[in-house]
Amino acid sequence: MTAPHPTPDLFALSEIQGPVLRPGAPGYADEVTGFNLAALHTPDVVIGATSPHDIVTALRWASATHTPVAVQATGHGANYPIDHGLLINTTRMTDVTITPETRTAKISAGAKWRHVLDAAAPHGLAALTGSSTDAGVIGYTLGGGLPVLGRTYGYASDLVHSFQVVTPDGILHETDATQEPDLFWALKGGKGNVGIVTSLTCDLLPLPTILGGGIYCAGEDAEPLLTTWAEWTRHVPEEMCSAFTLLRLPPIPQIPEPLRGGFWARVAVAWTADPAEGEALLATIRDAAPVVVDTVEEMPYAAMDRIYMEPQDPLPARESCSLIRELPPEAVRAFLSHAGPQVTDFPLLMVGLRHMGGALSRPPRAEDAICARDANYLMEAVGVLAAPPAAEAIEQATTSLHHAMSPYGTGHTMVNIHGTPGNAEDRARAWTPEVLTRLRQAKKTYDPNNLLRYGHTVA
Ligand SMILES: Cc1cc2nc3c(=O)[nH]c(=O)nc-3n(C[C@H](O)[C@H](O)[C@H](O)COP(=O)(O)OP(=O)(O)OC[C@H]3O[C@@H](n4cnc5c(N)ncnc54)[C@H](O)[C@@H]3O)c2cc1C
Repeated sequence: MTAPHPTPDLFALSEIQGPVLRPGAPGYADEVTGFNLAALHTPDVVIGATSPHDIVTALRWASATHTPVAVQATGHGANYPIDHGLLINTTRMTDVTITPETRTAKISAGAKWRHVLDAAAPHGLAALTGSSTDAGVIGYTLGGGLPVLGRTYGYASDLVHSFQVVTPDGILHETDATQEPDLFWALKGGKGNVGIVTSLTCDLLPLPTILGGGIYCAGEDAEPLLTTWAEWTRHVPEEMCSAFTLLRLPPIPQIPEPLRGGFWARVAVAWTADPAEGEALLATIRDAAPVVVDTVEEMPYAAMDRIYMEPQDPLPARESCSLIRELPPEAVRAFLSHAGPQVTDFPLLMVGLRHMGGALSRPPRAEDAICARDANYLMEAVGVLAAPPAAEAIEQATTSLHHAMSPYGTGHTMVNIHGTPGNAEDRARAWTPEVLTRLRQAKKTYDPNNLLRYGHTVA
């Protein structure tokens, strides 16, 4: 039997402006619940931070009481439950300040990409969001941030100038490429290992519109569509950002007709140059198989959620990824034999391949902890954990798909989409051995007592 956790002395937290709640208190459940309902957190105490000062106070208390600390903005990256210690909820810290003259944004800990896109759009500016603008800017960027427009502009963390971060000793640091460069390095791709970020400042892009959307064919046409897409991605310019996805959609009202309840093979695209040129390139994809739904159009950048149509409502999900070096015809066959139309009762909601390369393969302007520059594709798999038999089937299908694709992979994952971190060997897959060694050194320097031990940590 596990010993009950001692009741923490919360007196020192009384100067925190936001709520400080113990299990059972009114509001506790709302404070700990995030997007991934598979991870139901039950920390000994949760605080709703309203400012960097609240985070400093919380970390000083945690350091003095040796209490482990976790942080959550949206819960998009919550892959397993936090069952003790302190959880810092940053959802109240959503300030976004745009400086149009320098084309930069200062973004607070709890802001989602939606907040940034809405603030930047009136200035004709865009930010390097991923496939869902509902994800938090900080958690996403700390994992490198693989943007929809990554082939054209690189990783989101490439555009970061500075972070404001509180280390577990409760000290607030301003770090950039020249001030505490090791801390800055570890925050760009090293995830939440070394501190709690209260804000970051990054570049924006002058990009009011893009050509984007999804080309949907019947799932049964996956083979010609994927074969054509794989070949096409070897030649398209960096301005073409795309992904191939197999979607087995449930018949729920949140999914629009005619996609609702269907099995689809989709190529999602975002083209960042002259729309007419982009349309010409897309002819190859549209000719590959009969197109059932085509949503590609010139759109305001702020409407880019239409491209991937990621779920917006919380759900219990199991995600995973592998970085793929090349997609020769035998890799296409391996992918389809494990996830294609012939696989009846395939239990995953979506499996896909995002095209990488281009600017994602170039060195960053300041060195970082990202280890995906040698990959040309990212394969991701997402299942919805409805009930235990489904969970087992999802686990099996996920494992055998990744195994089948491993001959074509780099052996690594991208930390943002790694899914539930397992043992040390599994966690290590998100970084190269050299980066992992340096990250462990940074962890020793900034979090010697391993207070930040939740999430994808390396101690
Ligand atoms: C639908 C969907 C689409 C996605 N698309 C993409 C994509 O296109 N590209 C991509 O790269 N990723 C993508 N992701 C993964 C996403 O980037 C990660 O889940 C990321 O962790 C989300 O950050 P969050 O703050 O929203 O999540 P949270 O669950 O709130 O946080 C996750 C982790 O981030 C860290 N973290 C969060 N805030 C802080 C902070 N203030 N200081 C220190 N650490 C912090 C912590 O380690 C925390 O455990 C997607 C996820 C989903 C669910």
